Amino acid sequence: MIILTEAKRIKQLDERTIGFIAAGEVVERPAQVVKELLENSLDAQSNSIKIEIENGGFERIRITDDGNGIHPDDLPLALDRHATSKLRQEDDLHEITTLGFRGEALASIGMVSKLRVSSKTSAGSGYTVRMNFGEKENIEPEGMGGGTIVEVSDLFQNQPARLSFQRRPVTEMAKIVDIVMQHALSHPNVAFSLTNSGRIVFDVPSVSEYDDRLFDVLGTQASGLIPLSVPSEDENAPGDERWTGWISSPDITRGKGDEVHLFINQRPIASQPFQGAIRRGYKTRLMQGRHPIAILSLKIPPHEVDVNVHPTKRDVRLKHSWRVLERLERAIAHTLHSVATAPDSSASSLGIESIKETKIETETETYKKPSWAITATQQLTLSGDSARSLEPEKKRPISSSPAIQKTIFGGKPIAPALSSDERDIHRYSGIESERPDSEKPLSEIINELPEMEPLAQLADSYILVQSGEELLIVDQHALHERIRYERLKEDQNQWKPQSRISSISIELNPKEMSQLQAVSSTIKSFGFDFDIDSQSMIIHSAPAILTTSSIEDFMRDLLQDLSEDNQRALSMEKIKDEMAFMRACRGAVKANDKLSIAEMRRLLEDMRCIPNPWACVHGRPTAMRLTIHSLDHHFGRHG
Ligand code: ADP
Ligand code: MG
Repeated sequence: MIILTEAKRIKQLDERTIGFIAAGEVVERPAQVVKELLENSLDAQSNSIKIEIENGGFERIRITDDGNGIHPDDLPLALDRHATSKLRQEDDLHEITTLGFRGEALASIGMVSKLRVSSKTSAGSGYTVRMNFGEKENIEPEGMGGGTIVEVSDLFQNQPARLSFQRRPVTEMAKIVDIVMQHALSHPNVAFSLTNSGRIVFDVPSVSEYDDRLFDVLGTQASGLIPLSVPSEDENAPGDERWTGWISSPDITRGKGDEVHLFINQRPIASQPFQGAIRRGYKTRLMQGRHPIAILSLKIPPHEVDVNVHPTKRDVRLKHSWRVLERLERAIAHTLHSVATAPDSSASSLGIESIKETKIETETETYKKPSWAITATQQLTLSGDSARSLEPEKKRPISSSPAIQKTIFGGKPIAPALSSDERDIHRYSGIESERPDSEKPLSEIINELPEMEPLAQLADSYILVQSGEELLIVDQHALHERIRYERLKEDQNQWKPQSRISSISIELNPKEMSQLQAVSSTIKSFGFDFDIDSQSMIIHSAPAILTTSSIEDFMRDLLQDLSEDNQRALSMEKIKDEMAFMRACRGAVKANDKLSIAEMRRLLEDMRCIPNPWACVHGRPTAMRLTIHSLDHHFGRHG
């Protein structure tokens, strides 16, 4: 028998309870409070905004602006829910031109903190209103200049549950710096200053030239940026949306998309929905897994964007999203069209010029393909001459050896020198390969491979090898990389911190700096020793395995990896593996490197001394095997 309990009756919640529920959505953490208050100051047409933080915002957040202020009669109302000066009626929701509009922020903040709002309009005199964990007090006169001061103290002290989920103050500060930077990037004509316990973290003057703001916010990063230019046919295309901004040339990249800043009508929004279009705009010029740095700003008629879809307004909905995205993609492609890619140590055989110039006619359409994609397919079907005619300017390596080496197929590079994930790792690497015979031989034979004899080098990329009853075709880079990786892993000295002759100074922008402060002990545990001064990280020692020239790029990516938004828990093992990969890749001979017979022989000897000779560190095969048996079979010699 089923026992039914009596149905619970429905009751309308009281205002206070409703307030707490709403506060849960709007103010999850101190950084969000800062965001709401900044939005209010910007909506009030401020020219200058001062942000003071104590203890990651948990103790105090104070924002002082010189904006329009609040009329004294409205001051108590500003702390009520759904009280706003930015909307009048339902229809206004379709045409929002302010950052705020819900009238919830101050009310919510006042539920979970000691809130104090002081304000003075240009005509009136100043007043203060307070709210103490939901209890509003009467207004009092206040002597002050024009503008508004909002102070939030003891955030979440009445909410033990919420408090227990908060991050460390340093982590929160990093997030706050990020938010202030975002708004500084979208409002160059407003001055921002941010202090943490009285120390200046960020201080940018109001500027009229956007370039100046870029430099003030991003530091040296800004120098690699190119202004976005729109193709002329798009200027007159239907639609009133317009993209402007800056993008990095393809050789300046980051491991994460965090440096893509996106603004719609000066509102910072999540860049995720735009990443695909950005990537397509870069076409093949962005290494796999790498992201550009970009500041992209969309001006769009307010009725074509719905900002009322997300509690924190980080996500918005666009009426003509496909059209807007395609415009962005075209603008990026157009901008990069004029930029020659810097010679990339790892992918130099990929001629960028030909990628954008080469067109293929098909029956239905004309479209562009990377040149190597064409040559790779045509080489299989056409004679060498027609394949070559597509790219007359490129020299192709021809295998040759003064000694007994035979030259086979001095063809053009049949593939990029490195696979795309290798190129990623090679970013940190120098250009020089180490010669296989200059390295310490591995002494102990530990696998089943027989003694092998190099016959010739093919296309300066593969080694043809006689191995017992088999012909091996060995990818010289893949094999060398595997050998180097095994050797490095064995060598304990590689992991010891090594002090560098002169310390390495890495200039960091305020966001990177605050990230570093949040994770500095983790980075130290990885074998780095460093100091921090006002604008840079000064590295004195780093694990021996990292070459001095690779430290800066490695560190910037590591900072991103460790940032709160990426939440990637990096173990020491993982870091070690990454560094070993990187170094293994780094010195390895590449495709299109000429090898002498002696060098090939050395590689083959070492190949017998590693645990897994058949796969490179990226999991690609090192060799292809052709048995005599299969040749006989192919040529019909088997009865
Ligand atoms: P919303 O911004 O959605 O209107 P808020 O709760 O953030 O809601 O603010 C309520 C109202 O208080 C705003 O509509 C605005 O009129 C006023 N206000 C808040 N902060 C400021 C400020 N810094 N300067 C001038 N007015 C402000
Ligand atoms: Mg607001």
